Amino acid sequence: MHANIFIPQTFIDDVESYIPNHLSIDDYLASCKKPLRTAVRVNTKKMSVDSFKQYAAQNDWQITPVPWCENGFWLVRPENQQSLSLGNTDIHLSGCIYVQEASSMMPVTALLNNNDLSDCCVLDMAAAPGSKSTQIAEALSSEGVLVANEYSSSRIKSLSANMQRLGISNCALSHFDASIFGQYMEQSFDHILLDAPCSGEGTIRKDENALKNWSIESNIEIADVQKRLIESAFYALKAGGTLVYSTCTLTPLENQAVCQHLLNTFADHIEVVPLNHLFENADASATAEGYLHIWPQIYDTEGFFVAKFVKKSHVPQPEPKVKKGAFPFTPADKKTTEQFNQIIKKQFAMKPLAGELWQREQELWLFPLNIANVIDKIKYSRIGILLGKTHKNGIRLHHEFATCFGAEALKNTHKLSLSEACDYFQGKDIKLAQVTSDKDEVLLMLNNTCVGLGKWQKNKIKNGLPRELVRDSQLITWE
Ligand code: SAM
Repeated sequence: MHANIFIPQTFIDDVESYIPNHLSIDDYLASCKKPLRTAVRVNTKKMSVDSFKQYAAQNDWQITPVPWCENGFWLVRPENQQSLSLGNTDIHLSGCIYVQEASSMMPVTALLNNNDLSDCCVLDMAAAPGSKSTQIAEALSSEGVLVANEYSSSRIKSLSANMQRLGISNCALSHFDASIFGQYMEQSFDHILLDAPCSGEGTIRKDENALKNWSIESNIEIADVQKRLIESAFYALKAGGTLVYSTCTLTPLENQAVCQHLLNTFADHIEVVPLNHLFENADASATAEGYLHIWPQIYDTEGFFVAKFVKKSHVPQPEPKVKKGAFPFTPADKKTTEQFNQIIKKQFAMKPLAGELWQREQELWLFPLNIANVIDKIKYSRIGILLGKTHKNGIRLHHEFATCFGAEALKNTHKLSLSEACDYFQGKDIKLAQVTSDKDEVLLMLNNTCVGLGKWQKNKIKNGLPRELVRDSQLITWE
């Protein structure tokens, strides 16, 4: 039970004015005081759900499936493991899981429902720290592209780090107020998620001070931003495409009213896709309009709101804009492309990668295959992944190449034991029992996925983890 949870009376009065008749305010307040259950999503790009279940059984984790996300699970770890944060476990460090509140898995489930996103161009307008972007990216094939946008400079770093940890290669990151998309990228996306900035009323179980600065005035102010963003989403979406709008707040000012603003502004051009059959018992949170208004007591989660729309036809943006400025990349020349393909074939017996190689000075990047449709419309903070850097004797491979593609290697891999993995993430070299005659780079494997690069050096593997990823906290084992 949270001892210091802060719920202002003005907030309670407001909630009483809109809580549905079949729910009680007392149950709502009681659920706000209950600690939140831990939930994770398995990153199936790196680990199968079956392997996750095996891992959980081996480590005495009790897991319960999240009904609306096939790779989402609530989990309870035994008491003797609690001293090790989930973020420092081998399964997390190797990018096989993402810690994500269960209700926050619902918007992407809604986006994916009856939609095959695999080769689509998808926009996540407010993406950091990336729980939903990484969930969307999992549904894309190498033909698909995700543009993940975030306005806050500090949060875009965590977005980028999470994309890298989960081994996502076909994503472009941008750093704008998302209201620009409608102007610069009219009709560019097959599907859009707007997980909007909001007043966060639903997050009280995680953050006991979530309501500290609560006021109706700030709800109204945020709703104005949300209306601006949802209009921008409409213009950026292709006709026939779907838009999911979600928040982690409860007030209808930031939820139903924002959706109504969209429906009023673009009357015959957009319609609601009802979500009351999204999963078994979705009806318990469905509103008359077909949105999901998730009160914490319904599924024992955070508070959340999800709405889905389909765009029937386009309305031209009144003030379209065109990007100016040069693009600093050029397609990689034939010699560099061949050299790169040779290196990965010779060292790791790997085939050429799906995607396009591009260069910026010495850097060699892998861009998503279908980035061409959106590449020149805005400036991106980064596109795809850094594969390596060219130098006079060849190409030095980069960490991201390893975390995204290392699992495809057929040779020169080394399976880390838990204590070696601990050394690796703490930036130490890995001692070998015998002197090796192997040479050059080696891919380091943990939980059957690749966590980075090292270099064979006689009786050790030299650590190739980038300095900024080195950790000094307690890692991997709890004893
Ligand atoms: N979708 C994220 C996830 O699942 O990890 C959470 C997004 S959070 C609800 C909303 C995000 O919107 C915040 O990271 C915030 O910095 C960002 N934001 C705020 N104003 C924005 C704007 N005008 N344009 C784009 N993003 C904005």
